[in-house]
Amino acid sequence: MKQDNCIFCKLANGDIPTNTIFEDEDVRVFLDAGPATKGHALVVPKNHYADIYEIEPDVLAKVAKVAQKVIRHATKVLGCDGYNLVQNNGEAAGQTVFHFHMHLIPRYKDMDNRNLISWTPGEVDEGEAKALCESLKIE
Ligand code: 5GP
Ligand code: ZN
Repeated sequence: MKQDNCIFCKLANGDIPTNTIFEDEDVRVFLDAGPATKGHALVVPKNHYADIYEIEPDVLAKVAKVAQKVIRHATKVLGCDGYNLVQNNGEAAGQTVFHFHMHLIPRYKDMDNRNLISWTPGEVDEGEAKALCESLKIE
């Protein structure tokens, strides 16, 4: 299903041109218009799902498989030293385009961008952690 007013539906389905590096019947991978690093790409399903809550598990699995294929290839081409996979869900998490997508962000050792995706580790209260763990358990 496509959504009429969704920019990523148009990009993923070729209605608006992109710098596409891979495409099959389910997904398109194209370069991000505002790259975090050289080679930053997005894996975008052709059907519309707003986020991780909505996407079909099979399509999610396909996105992961395509991400691996692209990363294995692009690492050789770019000569990068690592990769971050980033996938934002909800405004609070930094999502700005509400059509599911996975960021593939190459990382380069000599670049001063270590804080691109990082946080300061917090303190853990053992009692709280145990209660939290209990509340989150899935049988
Ligand atoms: P989000 O913040 O939703 O996880 O990421 C949205 C991403 O989409 C951003 O990295 C932004 O640069 C990229 N983006 C937004 N509009 C376009 C566009 O029209 N073309 C391309 N190639 N990327 C876009
Ligand atoms: Zn869409």
